[in-house]
Amino acid sequence: MANLILILGDQLSPTLSALEGADRESDLIVMAEVHDEASYTNHHKKKLVFLFSAMRHFAQELEQQGWRVQYQPYHPDNPAQSLEQFIRAAVQEHSPKRLITTECGEWRLHAQIRQWHKILGVHVEIRPDTRFICSIHEFARWAEGKKQLRMEFFYREMRKKTGLLMTPDGQPEGGNWNYDADNRKKWSGKPPAPSPFRVEPDDITRAVIKLVDEQFSEHFGTTDDFHFAVTAEQAQQALAHFIDFALPCFGDYQDAMSDSEDWLFHAILSPYLNAGLLEPIDVCEATVHSWHSGQAPLNAVEGFVRQILGWREFVRGIYWRLMPDYAQENRLGNTRKLPWFYWTGDTRMRCMHKAIDATYRNAYAHHIQRLMVTGNFALLVGVNPEEICDWYLAVYADAYDWVELPNVLGMVMHADGGYLGSKPYAASGKYIQRMSDHCANCHYNVNKATEGDACPFNALYWHFIDRHRDDFASNHRMGMMYRNWDKQNPERRDALLQRANWLLEHLEEL
Ligand code: FAD
Ligand code: SF4
Repeated sequence: MANLILILGDQLSPTLSALEGADRESDLIVMAEVHDEASYTNHHKKKLVFLFSAMRHFAQELEQQGWRVQYQPYHPDNPAQSLEQFIRAAVQEHSPKRLITTECGEWRLHAQIRQWHKILGVHVEIRPDTRFICSIHEFARWAEGKKQLRMEFFYREMRKKTGLLMTPDGQPEGGNWNYDADNRKKWSGKPPAPSPFRVEPDDITRAVIKLVDEQFSEHFGTTDDFHFAVTAEQAQQALAHFIDFALPCFGDYQDAMSDSEDWLFHAILSPYLNAGLLEPIDVCEATVHSWHSGQAPLNAVEGFVRQILGWREFVRGIYWRLMPDYAQENRLGNTRKLPWFYWTGDTRMRCMHKAIDATYRNAYAHHIQRLMVTGNFALLVGVNPEEICDWYLAVYADAYDWVELPNVLGMVMHADGGYLGSKPYAASGKYIQRMSDHCANCHYNVNKATEGDACPFNALYWHFIDRHRDDFASNHRMGMMYRNWDKQNPERRDALLQRANWLLEHLEEL
């Protein structure tokens, strides 16, 4: 036996660096569905179905292409319950020259794999993950010596590096780097939002659904109406569907939320990108092509490319630069337990109910729901960062530590002291009213702040501003908020703080 090649569940790419130079006849690919990885958090049932099914399809494709594959399907009585046990058994059975793998997406697992050469007595080669556009080392070089990191500047570097949306003389297409100002429209039902791309479950997926329903019945979410793509070919169709039907309006309604539409004009590509069924550079190039061919406007395509070339690469760079200490950050000193309704959606706050209910059904909520509804609420009430990070890691089909942690701990909770974002994304109910139609259907009144039926976000927002004066009053982007707060008469301020204190004591009843 020459080499064992370990492929993890989020490494389902034929271009994977671990496969480079491999020999189909003598090398053996190993893949496993193991209990420890499936259960270390309360993963959404659809996330488990997606990953197990995509892994099984990928293993089957590799075999069809002539690779030798040893695959362990999940069974509660498997002797190997962890990846380490699985690899130990494979090493004992095959005595390989080397174990080759690609950088994984999680510090926890990375720390384990780095010890395998000692524990398992096998030479372990960990290769860079070349599917990302910016390598860990390249990001570290860019970040070196900077006190705060700003995505916008990183993004410009990536535009120059890739040439995406750049003119031949090195200028941004259209004259601007960023068209965000055009991307803040409320959606009032027109143009109609396209339905998401759907794949009917095949035999493999149906078997996995049955397995997950039986073995993971206590996990969050439902397997009902599972329609995600589970192969690279289907993921390409999902990309084409997005470009044809949603991309033209993606920019305009990027920040919108709707009481009746779960998906709006979003791509719904993150599960495929993060598991390796799609490659980020291909996705960016395909969307840029649609601009060149006049199919989609520049504000939509630039806005979309920025999410992938900018944000996605940026948060990954931050994760690997700052872990493992990053996960412990809690600069705002938050200690509150996560309210139980995050797991049930059982709250009269319409915006929260809608975001959590969609999450339960779909293992998906779009960016603004994650940031400005469930995230904003957790920030305002001061949930312990570890608890809210665990929630986000569990409930979304696209959630992996490298991408979830910086988004939640840094962007939402501002727990890293502003390393990732220059100001917290705290907002009152007015923001949600401006960007959605939830408030019209809510038990609470968004135009009130102190009364018993007042929108909880309003008083909680001012409580957040007041209790974090030392943290933010000198932040020039927050100065206006403090001036507004200080301008209100003392009775009004007292009433707002009283209402907020009542809300904080009765969170579970909201
Ligand atoms: P679109 O809105 O259509 O965006 C296109 C693509 O851009 C996405 O597919 C994604 O790959 C990328 N992208 C956009 N924003 C980000 C971002 N902030 N960070 C990284 N990639 C981004 N994304 C994840 O992939 N996994 C997560 O676990 C995750 N957790 C998040 C938690 C919070 C609190 C927030 C605010 C954002 C989180 N995001 C996460 C980013 C973003 O919300 C999702 O990528 C997006 O909603 C996925 O849906 P979509 O494919 O329809 O994206
Ligand atoms: Fe959300 Fe407040 Fe609007 Fe209700 S009134 S939907 S709680 S923002």
